Parts: sequence; structure tokens; C-alpha cells
Amino acid sequence: MLVDYHIHTKECGHARGEMPEYVEAAIARGLPEMGFSDHMPLPYLPLDEEYMMPTARFPEYLAEVARLQEKYPRIRIRLGVEADFIPGYTEQLVQILSGYPLDYVYGSVHFIDGWLHDDSRFIDGYERHGVDNVYRDYFRLVQGAAESGVFDILSHLDLVKKFGFRPQRDIRGLLEETVAAVAESGKCIEINTSGLRKPVREIYPGKELLELLFGANVPVTLGSDAHAPEEVAGDFDQAVALLRRVGYRKIATFRKRQRYLVDL
Ligand code: ZN
Ligand code: FE
Ligand code: FE
Ligand code: ZN
Repeated sequence: MLVDYHIHTKECGHARGEMPEYVEAAIARGLPEMGFSDHMPLPYLPLDEEYMMPTARFPEYLAEVARLQEKYPRIRIRLGVEADFIPGYTEQLVQILSGYPLDYVYGSVHFIDGWLHDDSRFIDGYERHGVDNVYRDYFRLVQGAAESGVFDILSHLDLVKKFGFRPQRDIRGLLEETVAAVAESGKCIEINTSGLRKPVREIYPGKELLELLFGANVPVTLGSDAHAPEEVAGDFDQAVALLRRVGYRKIATFRKRQRYLVDL
């Protein structure tokens, strides 16, 4: 069974299409289950409405998901969010999340010390900081996100490769440390196909990292990171092939922040 848990909406300001169109796309692709996971508005992020919906719009997002659950009994629709990990704000985040009936929470490292490293407008940061340093800082933050225990699923685990910048030094140790932190946390990761649509042209996480995760018994779920209806379940054939090649036979699903494993 396949799910697509990483789906955005135009509420966030940088996606398009109406929410029902995403549901219809998921049904057309034969998914029994999907989930919306729009960017969670967080008051402490150094950002504007090009990145996330205003907090005042968030109840409307929740209500629309509830309406769609009623309207489309043919598919299970879960309610998720994608929340940024910012060190020092864990308690505040837990507090904010506790106010909503979420099925799952994605944790993402989009910011390295205030720098939005996955936004092409700020791509000069890779040169300014040095790619090796960026990789180190990025994966330390991912470890922090895992250790925080707040997130059910860690998103696009090696997002830092998005623009194709590769480290000079061997990062095997850094990846092993990261996998150990994730395994220790008991949380889940996702296989995210959006990297195939980005300059790196590679699924997140890459095969080497995914093999380490499988070796450490870290469960995995699936997401397309759709920002348009036609991206729903995009390239899932490649994701499934990679999962199987690495050894995965189950995927994780979520309901009310409880995890279940189902056959792939
Ligand atoms: Zn987005
Ligand atoms: Fe993200
Ligand atoms: Fe996303
Ligand atoms: Zn994402």
C-alpha cells in the first residue's frame, strides 16, 4: 500500500491548485491514503507569507481538510503539518502543536542559523559558508530535530544536496551520526521524491543514507512534497523501487500521531 503524506496547498503562498484537486489527483493515482502537510505557521520564523500561511489562516486549513474527509470517503485523508526545526524553540513548538488534532508532524531543517538554505534566492550561502561547513551544520541540525522528539517524521533527510552542491570531505561519519540519532529517537523518516524535480535530480534520502537507515531499523513513509496537484505521488515508482532495493518491505502510516506499519 502506498501513501503520499507530503502535500502542500496554495495556502502556503508558493504552491498552486485547489485542495480538492490534490485529493482528486491522489484518487486518480490509486492511493488509498494521503495527507496534507502544509507549512506550519510559526511566529518565531524569520519569514513572510511566501513561505507559509499566516497563523490566522491555519484554522481554515484544518477546516478544509475536515470538509474534504467528508466529501471524499473513497480515500483516507490525514491531517499533517510540516514544521521547521529551530534550536531553542522546541517547547514553544510542542505547545503550538498540542492545540491541533494532527495525525502527524513532519520536521524539516530549512534554516541553518537563520539562512534558508533550500531557497534558490539565497543560494550564494553555499559559497559564503563553504559546502563542507554547510553539510556539517545541516546534519547537526537534523540530529537536533531527531533528538527533540517532537517530530513523527523527519522530512527530506538530505535536503542540503538540493542544488547539487556536494561536500569535498568524506561525510560517512556525519551520516552515521545522523542515522544513530534518528534511530535512537525512535522516529520515522520519509522517502521524498521532490529531489528528482530539483537540480540534484535524486530522491531524498540518497541510496547510501537510506541503506544506513534501513540497517538501523528506521521506519520510512512516502511523500512527494507536491506543490501542485499533478505532483501528487510523483515518481513513486522510483521511490518504491529504491525502497525495495534497499530492503524495505513496510511503510509507516499515521493516525492521531500513532504510527502503524503496513506492507509496501
Ligand atoms: Zn513548500
Ligand atoms: Fe521542506
Ligand atoms: Fe514540503
Ligand atoms: Zn518539504
